[in-house]
Amino acid sequence: MDVGRPGRMDGRFVAGLWREHLARAVADWVGTGGRPPGLAVVRVGEDPASAVYVRQKATAARAAGFLVEDMVLPEDTSMERVQEVLRDLAARPEIDGLMLQLPVPPPLDADVLLEDIPGEMDVDGLGIHQAGRLATGVPDLPPCTPAGVMELLRAHGVNLSGARALVIGRSRIVGRPMAQMLLHADATVTVAHSRTRDLEALVASADLVVVAAGRSGLIKGAWCSPESVVVDVGIHPRREGGLTGDVDWQGEVPRVQAWTPVPGGVGPMTVAMLLVNTWRAHGRREGHAPLEAPYAS
Ligand code: NAD
Repeated sequence: MDVGRPGRMDGRFVAGLWREHLARAVADWVGTGGRPPGLAVVRVGEDPASAVYVRQKATAARAAGFLVEDMVLPEDTSMERVQEVLRDLAARPEIDGLMLQLPVPPPLDADVLLEDIPGEMDVDGLGIHQAGRLATGVPDLPPCTPAGVMELLRAHGVNLSGARALVIGRSRIVGRPMAQMLLHADATVTVAHSRTRDLEALVASADLVVVAAGRSGLIKGAWCSPESVVVDVGIHPRREGGLTGDVDWQGEVPRVQAWTPVPGGVGPMTVAMLLVNTWRAHGRREGHAPLEAPYAS
């Protein structure tokens, strides 16, 4: 596998570059009389992990100079009420990007609710419009986590053309769009899921492994080829505090070409890509160009 900058892929650092780059663009825009980008995040219920993620997103967006509407609805909010809130936010002229933090508590139906987010404001990229654009090869606002993975790979000069990429997981949020993005980047993509047999052999033969199974320690470091690049999307609280991922490095320094830590790998990139998408949605209304990457490919 051809990797320009091997080693640990520091998502905190790369996301920081994007956030500073964005903050400068916003300051320049607002400094010349422009309207700041507006992001609305709707959360339903008190899921503690969701509360942390929304706080991270809101803090990062405010730090970059965005206007942020951070709305929390009670656990027992009806479908109709959530839909009404989404429609009201979508109609506000100062809001460019609108997202619903998932998961939503039952019996709310996330698939139905996502359809109340207009495609051009869907900065999480999860609705049918944006998912359809990605699937047909004309991405616009791509889902933030896989977009963050792609940027981290780009920042580290990982050459995906012709690479054997294995995506573990096929969710709407991560695995499925991840596979499509890798396909667009000319990788040869295999998607593994809960019914896949002999994961170990698939991992061993892959140049790039993106693990998004949501199973702590599912993949063993020893399975991975020393020539491979391994991206761990999983996030799990550790019993002793802190976070761990889907890859178990078995207490050793990863013996692969490049890898992401948990925490500090994909998570911060997800937040940065949400801001990048919001800036893009804002630019379409206000007439400015999307941001170029703050580093050479
Ligand atoms: P999900 O539960 O919706 O999907 C998991 C996928 O993994 C499913 O498609 C399933 O088929 C597959 N899977 C489950 N067990 C498997 C097994 N034994 N072998 C192979 N495949 C298996 O989860 P998700 O929303 O895609 O999230 C996955 C993980 O990524 C979770 O740990 C989540 O917390 C994390 N996550 C991280 C970020 C981030 O920013 N870092 C963002 C979103 C999700």
